[in-house]
Amino acid sequence: MSQHILVVEDEAEIASYLRRGLVYAGYTVEVATSGAAALAAARERPPDMVILDLGLPDIDGLTVAQRLRAGPPLPILMLTARDAVADRVAGLEGGAADYLTKPFAFEELLARIHVQLRRHSAQQEREILVVGALTMDAAAHEVRVSGRRVELTAKEFEVLDVFMRHPRQVLTREQVYDRVWGYDFGSDSNVLEVYVRALRQKLESADTPRMLQTVRGVGYVLREDT
Ligand code: CA
Repeated sequence: MSQHILVVEDEAEIASYLRRGLVYAGYTVEVATSGAAALAAARERPPDMVILDLGLPDIDGLTVAQRLRAGPPLPILMLTARDAVADRVAGLEGGAADYLTKPFAFEELLARIHVQLRRHSAQQEREILVVGALTMDAAAHEVRVSGRRVELTAKEFEVLDVFMRHPRQVLTREQVYDRVWGYDFGSDSNVLEVYVRALRQKLESADTPRMLQTVRGVGYVLREDT
């Protein structure tokens, strides 16, 4: 069965361009031209993924994303204006999996969709990852340290997930960027550092050694010992 994508876009030309391209790529596509129509469509036929334009005529896109995220896990890719940095940050914080800036190349959109759908289906398979005192239940989106439940944001979870799947293996920033975001932020970016710092704060306590360790000049490694 082909995967179903809900496109939320009020500009008719862009919507029909996306529909044609995605159908050609083998997806089934439904287009909603307002936030209200998107929420109704998602209830009617739950999509595998949502492409969400942030500038909608009725409910603002961020609110639509929040409401969609209240249901079962669902990858959301936001479309934003080039200068809307605050929107992108708010969207990613609010649980959108990724974003694309308009105008974009259709090939790039397809690549991002593949990344998100692949990751999503991997997460649906119930498995418990264990590295030292850390356990991760991908399906339940649950992380524990020595049995203590730790609350992570969606992106923190994804970053940790990459390391949990490659314990004791040094991962470069590029590898993590590629697996979590589907593209490289470049060597000037400190996006990963920000997430690593947040994860350490949440995972470490006074009596636990550092598990997510810096390998200077290379990247990071997750180990159970010091
Ligand atoms: Ca729009």
